[in-house]
Amino acid sequence: MNLKEYVSEVQDWPKKGVSFKDITTIMDNGEAYGYATDQIVEFAREKEVDIVVGPEARGFIIGCPVAYSMGIGFAPVRKAGKLPREVIEYEYDLEYGSNTLAMHKDAIKPGQRVLITDDLLATGGTIVATIKLVEALGGIVAGIAFLIELEYLGGKKLLDGYETISLISYD
Ligand code: AMP
Repeated sequence: MNLKEYVSEVQDWPKKGVSFKDITTIMDNGEAYGYATDQIVEFAREKEVDIVVGPEARGFIIGCPVAYSMGIGFAPVRKAGKLPREVIEYEYDLEYGSNTLAMHKDAIKPGQRVLITDDLLATGGTIVATIKLVEALGGIVAGIAFLIELEYLGGKKLLDGYETISLISYD
């Protein structure tokens, strides 16, 4: 299956110059969504993953079906102020300003092997923040899976030393 055919590209959204990759047209197709999930499960299978972690909101869309399919749990990474119990936080810079992501402190036990999922790798800021949170809790990042990689933004070079997969690439 050629998954790229199911991505909707929207030019100049949310602002001029951006080619937005809309994955809702993968999700609303049972065959495409199932195929994408299975490809990531296959990547993760021999990595002895204990738990899946993904940043809101589209990391959930990818990570939850993968976790269910593997019979393991899912732990969310959320924007600051959204999780009700004790959290750890990581702040990172955006083009304008900064963003803070958080995880519950007990979401990962030290030594657990973690698969990180997100819809899309752009500059890599979000995924690096997610790695920092997982590692701060003592988790081992066993693999990182994306539906889409925007190769021209070079985010991959921040992930040296980690095993990654992207199901769809744009160069
Ligand atoms: P980054 O931190 O730059 O790697 O950006 C990551 C997040 O921003 C991804 O999880 C996407 O949800 C979103 N994103 C960035 N660029 C795009 C794009 N061109 N199309 C769709 N989503 C994007």
